[in-house]
Amino acid sequence: MVTNKIIETIKSLFKKHLEEISLPDDKKDKIYQKFLELLENLVGNFKDVLDSIKEAVVVIDEEGNIQEANKTFFEWLSLSKNDVIGRNIKDFVFEDIENKIVYLKNHELIPVELHIKEFEINNKKYKRLIASNIKNRVEFELKLKNLLRLYKVLSKINELIIRAVNKEEVFSLSCEILVKEGHFDFAWIGELRGENIVPVAWFGENETFAKTLKNRVFKQKNIKELITHSYLKESNLQKEEKAFFNKITIPIFKEENAISAVVSHKEITAVLVVYYKGKEFDEDEITLLKQIAHDIGFGIVTLSRKEDVDYLAYYDVLTSLPNRRYFFEELESLLSILKEKDQQGMLAIVDINNFKTINSAVGFWAGDIVLSQISSELKKILKNKDILARVGGDEFALFLYNVKSKEEAIYRITSVLKDFEFIFEIENKKFLVTLSIGAAFFPYDGTTKEVLFASAEAALKEAKKRGKGIEFFSKSLQQSTLESLNLESELVEAIKKDEFCVFYQPIVDIKEKRVFGAEALIRWIKNGEIVPPFKFIPILEERGLIKEVGAMVMDKVFSFIKEEKLNIPISINVSAKQVHLNFYKEVLDLIEKYSISPSNVILEVTESVLMENLEILLKNIKELNAVGIRFEIDDFGTGYSSLAYLKKLPICALKIDRAFIKDLPDDEEDVSISKAIISMGHSLGKKIIAEGVETKEQLKFLEENNCDYIQGYYFGKPMPKDEFLTFLKEFRWQE
Ligand code: C2E
Ligand code: CA
Ligand code: CA
Repeated sequence: MVTNKIIETIKSLFKKHLEEISLPDDKKDKIYQKFLELLENLVGNFKDVLDSIKEAVVVIDEEGNIQEANKTFFEWLSLSKNDVIGRNIKDFVFEDIENKIVYLKNHELIPVELHIKEFEINNKKYKRLIASNIKNRVEFELKLKNLLRLYKVLSKINELIIRAVNKEEVFSLSCEILVKEGHFDFAWIGELRGENIVPVAWFGENETFAKTLKNRVFKQKNIKELITHSYLKESNLQKEEKAFFNKITIPIFKEENAISAVVSHKEITAVLVVYYKGKEFDEDEITLLKQIAHDIGFGIVTLSRKEDVDYLAYYDVLTSLPNRRYFFEELESLLSILKEKDQQGMLAIVDINNFKTINSAVGFWAGDIVLSQISSELKKILKNKDILARVGGDEFALFLYNVKSKEEAIYRITSVLKDFEFIFEIENKKFLVTLSIGAAFFPYDGTTKEVLFASAEAALKEAKKRGKGIEFFSKSLQQSTLESLNLESELVEAIKKDEFCVFYQPIVDIKEKRVFGAEALIRWIKNGEIVPPFKFIPILEERGLIKEVGAMVMDKVFSFIKEEKLNIPISINVSAKQVHLNFYKEVLDLIEKYSISPSNVILEVTESVLMENLEILLKNIKELNAVGIRFEIDDFGTGYSSLAYLKKLPICALKIDRAFIKDLPDDEEDVSISKAIISMGHSLGKKIIAEGVETKEQLKFLEENNCDYIQGYYFGKPMPKDEFLTFLKEFRWQE
């Protein structure tokens, strides 16, 4: 034993020196006894300490034979001292060379970090090994690596869906990506044709059952059995397939794609099967595969529907309902007919409460299911001339022809919606989804589509306060409408007197660690006080004054760029109501007026602007892109842009809405949403901006997740132009 040898050496050294001192022998004996006592104490303490530490300590000789070890080492190996001492250390160490991890092994593998020190006693060489357990760290790193791999697969498949020209390509390349990038062993897609599931694509050859599967047509007894997987249960399979099918099967959902009012319901078109040799799927992988299956399903619906602009301009791909634009055009002509015939009607806006929560708790695909099922329910309310449209991310508008009283409206609506709630069962979890409805009558609550819609919106606000159910427009609500009318006349004055100014909020490039640009944000200086935009922009929009004010903002920004010779882009907000067919000409005229570079200008549009004005916006974007003016999507994530829209739009960046940033990095849902937006955005070649970043933790999370630009109080609030110029001069990156 090494320690014993050391002790013996110390003892004999001490004795030798003691001998040389001239003292009576009995004194020497006493000293020696005292010395032995102290030494014993010391060694005892030392052994106790060694045995109680978290690290394993081992001493080996030159051949690697174990001389000594502490209690932790024996415990880790679940062996007794006698089983270990004298054996070679090689029996207990395993090196994973590929991943550069060293393990101590006996029954289980314990990843360790080793510190080795050499020493000599009596001319013999020894090594002392201290091993710390790094199980947590290794597990975390492996999980992270796995997650990154999965996100890569997702973004590749999204990219594929966007570029692919036909269904076959989507199917076969998806399988290839799953195997090559996802490192799954085998991927297979079978399409449902009549009674059969026919193999259409597969990748990965090395498995024996792959051969069987390739040419095998499965009988599809019925769709329900397939969803519940019962058809694919072991008892229904032949021997060699058993190992295979208990892995994972995911139905791909395809939505009813008719434009007509046929009730749409989930329909499976294909089954994606992925095999992982000798490994269970973890939760992250299953979530991801479901997302992939959903995206593939979505991709083929969009592909199968000819992508003519007309369709996208008037209809919502997901629900097959008319969109906001269609609704307003229809409503206009419907109202004029009603007026002519002296008839009535009711407009209702239906809003899904807590849609964001549902969407993020499970994934976007789950949100899609909720939206399309609710839209099918709402369709049941319709009679002949009534209209139903999807007017926002989670908002529907319903116009009921000839409905005159609240009682009648409540009867019509509750005979379908009953308690204004639905229970969705997704992923074996139950979600309660409630609806709020705001309603207004024509002509009493408004004679034009704008006023009628505003009245219904005011009623909706009230309904939302109460949680769920329907609320009708009333006189007291009219009061607040009146107040806004007051504000309106003040605003008209403000425009005349030019009481507006523009603040600038920096946008920082976290990869280059410098200021990327800024967002221009309007302020109204009313009697020396700053009025924030949320108080007056909606009124400007409602009263059609936003065009004028929008142009003023652009004029101010361009002149600022010119005067200060700015060489960074300034993002300017463009409201839905501002964009018309020749909007681009106004912008170009102003660019010319100040002779600034178009690369200094980025225009920000929200997702709702897209939904409302797709065709017109497309034309404007194309014209302005041609000269080098870029566009980005604002408040991304709130308005539910579909891939189909994003794909069609030549925009350069997505700005993640503050709602998703606020609770980072603690809120798991927001974590997965923001990660998904970043990965999806990048796969489409878009830059990602995070808005409303206030803390270091948020910044760190976004940095780690590859976000490109940051805007928020962390770097700077919106500030007057002089302050912004100082900011630019003095900016230094600091962690
Ligand atoms: P937005 O386009 O989403 O602008 C970002 C808003 O988030 C700004 O509010 C900004 O001050 C705020 N913000 C930025 N970073 C942080 C942060 O770290 N924490 C918090 N709590 N807030 C942050 P603001 O300036 O009040 O503007 C509100 C909205 O008004 C804008 O939202 C935009 O939709 C609209 N708006 C502003 N200026 C214009 C304009 O010139 N034209 C149009 N059409 N709309 C404008
Ligand atoms: Ca904005
Ligand atoms: Ca925004």
